[in-house]
Amino acid sequence: MLELEDALGRVLAAVPAPAAERVPLGQACGRVLAEEARAGLDLPPFDNSSVDGYAVHAQDLTGATLQSPVRLRLVGKVAAGEPAPGNVGPRECVRLFTGSVLPSGANAVVMQEDTRIEAAESTEVSFLDFVKPWENVRFRGEDVRLGATLAESGRAITPGGLALLAATGYAEITVGRRPVVGLLATGSELQEPGAGLAPGQIYESNRFALAALTERVGGVPRVLPLVTDVLEPTRAALADAFRQCDAVVTSGGVSVGEMDFVKRAFQEAGGTTEFWRVAVKPGRPFVFGRWPGGKLLFGLPGNPVSAVVTFLLLVRPALLRWQGASDVSLASCPGVLVEPLSNPGDRRHFLRVKVDARGKVSSAGAQGSHMLSSLAGANGLVELPPRTNWPAGAIVQVLRPD
Ligand code: AMP
Ligand code: MG
Repeated sequence: MLELEDALGRVLAAVPAPAAERVPLGQACGRVLAEEARAGLDLPPFDNSSVDGYAVHAQDLTGATLQSPVRLRLVGKVAAGEPAPGNVGPRECVRLFTGSVLPSGANAVVMQEDTRIEAAESTEVSFLDFVKPWENVRFRGEDVRLGATLAESGRAITPGGLALLAATGYAEITVGRRPVVGLLATGSELQEPGAGLAPGQIYESNRFALAALTERVGGVPRVLPLVTDVLEPTRAALADAFRQCDAVVTSGGVSVGEMDFVKRAFQEAGGTTEFWRVAVKPGRPFVFGRWPGGKLLFGLPGNPVSAVVTFLLLVRPALLRWQGASDVSLASCPGVLVEPLSNPGDRRHFLRVKVDARGKVSSAGAQGSHMLSSLAGANGLVELPPRTNWPAGAIVQVLRPD
């Protein structure tokens, strides 16, 4: 049985090199950059005002106070979006707004709140306070310099990153192509939600969770029809899935029972099994295989908790790497146990937990691999090593699937 790290290493080594495509910026959030994005201009692109107020020569206002204001001649106005007018001379000022270009000659902007205008049509402004040189001025290039790296290849684009790319003139960007992921659920007991249940049947639920998880990491899920526990239909379903998809994720049928056909069907259809069984709980009977053309099979166990946990540990990183992501690990944060957690078994156990906004961690409920209620209530996983008891108050790392 493989250790998780070895299994993950083998999975990532089998992922094909990412293919790139251009997308409009509006569709790029969450996508993985396939180029190094560089600034095509300085940001801000010109010196400008950070307040509504007046451009001045700071030295003209030396000693200005509420009791003895200094008056300057108003010689113009620059709205945001307008080019700057001519030079501001000594003892002159120019009306500005937030984002207005700083006119040449001026070296500070006084906030409107520190000024007074005596009459509506006045050509003079009274300044009730002094100003330091360059106060309220935002300098050209102080945020980003022309040519600077905005984001490295291999990073997922965030909402803030999109704003930065747009502000520096990008309309489209090169990103890794999203893999199409076929989702096959095997099991003669499975019925589509919405249909009636015959005795012995249950509703299929894995494809719903797996499609959502696939979508979250940028894969394109393709939900395929249910497959019964019979060799030939399983073989045909796998061959058909690989015709349409880059990767196929199955659930169920990978255990040791005589009705578990996925491995055999995969091999008979033309696939090569790379490994079977990983030393984790839940999820031991995981199968990984290669299909001609650089395609991959992820055979997840059928129990819903096992399917989700093995997806997070072994499929999610592969789908991210497929798009060129450099960091494929789950985010984690420290938390404090509010109750003991224990793993009496001899495999690493990934327990479903709830972590609140203050980092308090508790079990999400009964931890059986068929227990959907605790899966639904969880927002994190805690890995407990074999034969471990952790008391309340222990600091733990909580894996936080996004
Ligand atoms: P298997 O891995 O096929 O032995 O299935 C293990 C358990 O998970 C059985 O109780 C199955 O009924 C259940 N199961 C398998 N596939 C699904 C599925 N797609 N949705 C819900 N339960 C499933
Ligand atoms: Mg089954």
